[in-house]
Amino acid sequence: MLITAATTEAKGAPFTLSPLELADPRPGEVVVRMVGAGVCHTDLVVRDQWYPVPLPAVLGHEGPGVVASVGDGVTFVVPDDHVVLTFNSCGGCRTCVQGRPAYCDQFFAYNFAGSRGDGSTPPHREAGDVHGVFGQSSFATYALATERNLVKVDQTAPLEKGTALKAVLTFA
Ligand SMILES: [Zn+2]
Ligand SMILES: [Zn+2]
Repeated sequence: MLITAATTEAKGAPFTLSPLELADPRPGEVVVRMVGAGVCHTDLVVRDQWYPVPLPAVLGHEGPGVVASVGDGVTFVVPDDHVVLTFNSCGGCRTCVQGRPAYCDQFFAYNFAGSRGDGSTPPHREAGDVHGVFGQSSFATYALATERNLVKVDQTAPLEKGTALKAVLTFA
């Protein structure tokens, strides 16, 4: 699907709005229509390449939104659920199994490799691949994340306050 994203084209460059093609969700993946996105200092650290995520990239990892579609096998959410996006994790290591995914053994690979494990990237354009962060890229009209990236929020909670909600729900 066609999306509009704020891309980071080069080290330290200003964010640029441009159209991108977003891949369909694979098994375990979810497309979220973004309602907002917080700008975290980690996004700026990546923009300035202190973390060497390949560029160009769509940054952003703290956004509220509405589930637009889900890939095969997704059971945590259904379309129209309200969610907040957060970091990614493997789900299989000791700390993930213990319910502490922030300490995932593979945290860096799952959040800063810039692509899925097989090297593919959900957003792309004619000129080539566009990378991402945190298993998502929420500086866009739609983001493709994994089921594990999502915090489900009550439908009555104001989505525009989602970044604050995430802080409460993730660290409670
Ligand atoms: Zn952050
Ligand atoms: Zn893990």
